[in-house]
Amino acid sequence: MKTIQDINFKDKKALIRVDFNVPLNNELVVTDATRIEAAKPTIVKIMQDGGSCVLLSHLGRPKNKELEFSLQHIVEAASTVLGVHVLFVPDCVGDIAETAVANLKPGEVLLLENVRYYKEETAGDSGFAKKLSKLGDIYVNDAFGSAHRAHASTAIITENFPENKCFGALLASEIKSLEKVLGDSKKPVTAVIGGAKVSSKITVIENVLDKIDHLIIGGGMAFTFIKAQGGNIGDSLVEDDKQTLALQILKKAKEKGVEIHLPVDVIAADQFSEKANTQISPINQIPEGWMGLDSGPQSNSNFTDVLSKSKTILWNGPVGVFEMELFSGGTISIGNAIANATQKGAFSLVGGGDSVAAVKQFNLSEKVSYVSTGGGAMLEMLEGKTLPGIQAILD
Ligand code: AMP
Repeated sequence: MKTIQDINFKDKKALIRVDFNVPLNNELVVTDATRIEAAKPTIVKIMQDGGSCVLLSHLGRPKNKELEFSLQHIVEAASTVLGVHVLFVPDCVGDIAETAVANLKPGEVLLLENVRYYKEETAGDSGFAKKLSKLGDIYVNDAFGSAHRAHASTAIITENFPENKCFGALLASEIKSLEKVLGDSKKPVTAVIGGAKVSSKITVIENVLDKIDHLIIGGGMAFTFIKAQGGNIGDSLVEDDKQTLALQILKKAKEKGVEIHLPVDVIAADQFSEKANTQISPINQIPEGWMGLDSGPQSNSNFTDVLSKSKTILWNGPVGVFEMELFSGGTISIGNAIANATQKGAFSLVGGGDSVAAVKQFNLSEKVSYVSTGGGAMLEMLEGKTLPGIQAILD
């Protein structure tokens, strides 16, 4: 796996695909610079080598060249985070971009305009990728959040850099973290899979079953498993057409020696609201008119026990409707149990969707080993798919 650490960038112009798809407020000011910070180690290494950086990114989903999607709004935040005056050019291909790159001196950083201003980007157009490739000597992919897209700037562009292409520091650490969890990992390995629906996590579960010892299933998806086993789940979320699948998963897990841990009790509510009346109920005896919106105290205690003995942990998906404080206890309990296990030496990876938001909301980011930066991209990696942006560097 070739990374920026294998290359000396002195006097080289690095064309870096970053993920600066950051949130902006109504005044078009960046409200969360996490993604810019995530790209900093790559940019700093290249500058320290004596190279220059040409940054290529998308922002949002522009239909035309709407000003609200211009990367010029990112310049100030990027300059602050990177500690250099970031230069900007209002195009990402053509004469003005090429001239700006030609004038770039070692140690300088140039941000190009939104690559999705061109429909050729998402179409994965080779001609467009060729034009982009004129803007650097070496192509670096550090945009993990876009690595599951076969777009011109994330994958197709590598055709023009057969030798001079590598992973940035962020992308490399995402790959290594997943490898630590599902590759050569320390046992026992536990996966916590939660979230709303079985259907959106089924491929993840099937892919991880071969690599884990314990599977904690929580959140809305647990009810399909409970109903399939004959439980009464009241008005809880369920996918009736996935009950057979749920039973097949339980059977497969047993055959592979994976211990499944489902909630045994829930916080049941009489409405999907912060103002709901609640009661603790066995998960298989939820009264009609009530729905399970969080895992109950016995479940939380059971899950904590499993996690405290785990040496490797993967967490994908909340075990309750954590966005409402009333139903956040289970997810906080899982987060704390993972943080404690991590402190005792376990490796923990949180990634692939809403669990990242939960970890941030409950200030646990620093207490787990790795928080993935790419929701969709991590989910696809967990599903066992090869991401086009990663494959293109490996080829
Ligand atoms: P996902 O994107 O599939 O990881 O699902 C995350 C969503 O699942 C969050 O918005 C949670 O509020 C929701 N969720 C978790 N547990 C439940 C539950 N018991 N009932 C309904 N929604 C849930």
